[in-house]
Amino acid sequence: MTLDFNKICRLCMAQPSGTLLPIFSQEDNLPGKVMTLMPLIKLCINDGLPSQVCSQCVQQVNTSYNFKLQCETADATLKQLVGCHQSQTALQEESSSDGTCTSAPVKEELIKLEITIEDDDMLVRDNESPGLDR
Ligand SMILES: [Zn+2]
Repeated sequence: MTLDFNKICRLCMAQPSGTLLPIFSQEDNLPGKVMTLMPLIKLCINDGLPSQVCSQCVQQVNTSYNFKLQCETADATLKQLVGCHQSQTALQEESSSDGTCTSAPVKEELIKLEITIEDDDMLVRDNESPGLDR
């Protein structure tokens, strides 16, 4: 069995009866999406590999890419909400200390991390500057 690279899909190796779509002339930047989703796959023009994809794979790539964008947007939005929520609960916790025990340790950890980072920076500067001066 020989594979005709001009007739198989680059992404699933299918040899569909329908038309294959050229990877590099897609208006919606298919190579960019593929390489964003699957960094191990390098799509280069004239790399000797099939330069066309089946319509199913185009659909899969677009769906997956949109899903990735959706997840990233949701993640960023949720993290922003948590950031606002934490600062709000910090004010509320002083008056009502019933239940919200999960947010308190997280905040303490964040504060400790910030302090240790600052201390490290100061220590480095303190150790370096006298050595340079003397
Ligand atoms: Zn395919």
